[in-house]
Amino acid sequence: MCTTLISIIIMATTKVAAYTLPVLPYPSDALEPIISEETIKNHHGKHLAAYVNNLNKLIPDSEYEGLLVEEIVQQAADGPIYNNAGQVMNHRLYFEQFVPVSQYKAPNGRVINALNYHFGNIEAFKKQMTDAAMSVFGSGWVWLAADAEGRLLIVTEPGGGNPWRRGLTPILGIDCWEHSWYLDYAFDKRAHYDGLWKIINWDVIDNRMSM
Ligand code: MN
Repeated sequence: MCTTLISIIIMATTKVAAYTLPVLPYPSDALEPIISEETIKNHHGKHLAAYVNNLNKLIPDSEYEGLLVEEIVQQAADGPIYNNAGQVMNHRLYFEQFVPVSQYKAPNGRVINALNYHFGNIEAFKKQMTDAAMSVFGSGWVWLAADAEGRLLIVTEPGGGNPWRRGLTPILGIDCWEHSWYLDYAFDKRAHYDGLWKIINWDVIDNRMSM
């Protein structure tokens, strides 16, 4: 077999397969009463599934074919490909970072030390994140992110933005789109944001801090 054909076969087999809907790390009713089963089913099974499907329609034959979602978020121009890749990356991080209320453990070790160092204390950190979420006008996200020197900062992003695009590492994300809270909380979105602190999986956050 000629080497050109071999390399074509290797390229074809190493290409990133179709983007897939991530499996939830808990049952769909596990985050009640903070996030209802109905909201999880809509948010994960409909909204995130739609972003995944959109990406699978947009990427083939584009210049981004074969790239990881994280690479598309870094490289794509503003537009539908960036928007859908951003939302796939965002929601992977989002759904992975929760744990049922009954299994919640307060942060300790490296996480609490880092939050104390950068924000004063855990309550001040939560308040800054929640206030930032309340300040997002329309659809967007709030992220706890780390810069290249390991400094932690809170950033807001419009639409499907992720600070990864600007060289920051996303560590904890709050989804400020209405689809994440409206069904459960109607006009009281602060109650939704306050509730999220009862279901954060700080072990996941700890792992992200080490990346
Ligand atoms: Mn969402």
